[in-house]
Amino acid sequence: MNSFPVNIHFHGWLTTLIQRVRRSNGLLAPPLNRRTSIKDLIESFGVPHTEIESIQVNGHSVSFGYIIGEESFVEVFPPQPPVNVLIPNLLRPRVLNAIRFLVDANVGKLAGKLRMAGFDTLYNPQWHDTELADIAAKSPCILLSRDIQLLKRKKIEFGHFVRETLPNKQLAEVIHFYDLSREIRPFSRCMRCNGSLTPVPKQEILEQLEPLTRKYYHSFHQCESCNQAYWSGSHREPMKQTLKELTRYRPLSY
Ligand SMILES: [Zn+2]
Repeated sequence: MNSFPVNIHFHGWLTTLIQRVRRSNGLLAPPLNRRTSIKDLIESFGVPHTEIESIQVNGHSVSFGYIIGEESFVEVFPPQPPVNVLIPNLLRPRVLNAIRFLVDANVGKLAGKLRMAGFDTLYNPQWHDTELADIAAKSPCILLSRDIQLLKRKKIEFGHFVRETLPNKQLAEVIHFYDLSREIRPFSRCMRCNGSLTPVPKQEILEQLEPLTRKYYHSFHQCESCNQAYWSGSHREPMKQTLKELTRYRPLSY
């Protein structure tokens, strides 16, 4: 059995994710008593692999499977927005072919916000950790969560620890982090079920409408999956408020 020290240095906001007892902005030197992969070593500090963009050992970039040798100086870097999950890098050679989110219940209100802005978003408050990990493995997507233990699961390749606590700010954080402001498509996706919205003649959905809506609104959309009707009062006003928040947003440092 090998036993040797290794110096590991976390950069940027990763220091805040490190388990409290080991939290430090400087050098850390945990003893290794076996041949440990760099991924296991990093996660032993409480930092999920999803929060890491690159790792260097003695100045050279390495992948998660790298086995640490003696006299290693390890540096771990967080992603810096804008993060592009559609192009490969050393840590994530397999990429997503489209932006799709999977939302954990601990940031549940973010799901409706993302759909309101037109982003493909999987969400069910009943899904627990095992189901979320299975879904992430089967249907490539970015898991959004505030659960560090969940983000450490092997099956989850793409994930983001949501730092903001208010839903509108969480939306702004995600849009800024993945540089999606040009991809916002209001009135394109159902907030209830994630289905696509299409314009629908008023007479086809009359029975869904309250008398005042029937009287004052004339332009409607309907969900292709669940038939929910949307009109400007139901969608555009909340969206306007959300967009205002987006323009006001002051990005976090990473
Ligand atoms: Zn729907």
